[in-house]
Amino acid sequence: MPDMEAKDWKHYYEEMKRKAPLIIYYPLCGGGEECISVCPYADKVWTLVPMRVRLFGLGGYRVRLRPYMAHPEHCKRCYLCLAACPTGALMRADSPAKHPGLRFLATLAKLPFRKRYSIRFVFRREHIERFKRNNRPGGRG
Ligand code: SF4
Repeated sequence: MPDMEAKDWKHYYEEMKRKAPLIIYYPLCGGGEECISVCPYADKVWTLVPMRVRLFGLGGYRVRLRPYMAHPEHCKRCYLCLAACPTGALMRADSPAKHPGLRFLATLAKLPFRKRYSIRFVFRREHIERFKRNNRPGGRG
């Protein structure tokens, strides 16, 4: 798909809100794919899509690759992905944050104290590589 045709992040946000147990507030998603890497059913549930979005409100509004639940019917609601998300962008659809920015700051503040999905997990080579690829201009590797 040419970059010109990539949709705005809100399209995918609304789609997940409509049909998935989880939503992603994409302006706060870094694109490191921590959620996908811990999901036991990743191949069935998740895909990456090119969408227009800024990175943490700082990077330019342009095409980036971001996780999207293409097949939420295969999700087992174990919420491992939720626990692994380092930014709080991933939320339960039935209890979304009223203030995603505050959730972002609170999640970052807790990151050093997490046992399982701590800073070391976020800075694994695979996540750094995915972050770089998914935020590359044009969103492609
Ligand atoms: S809740 Fe569990 S099964 Fe569903 S997407 Fe997250 S990690 Fe995968």
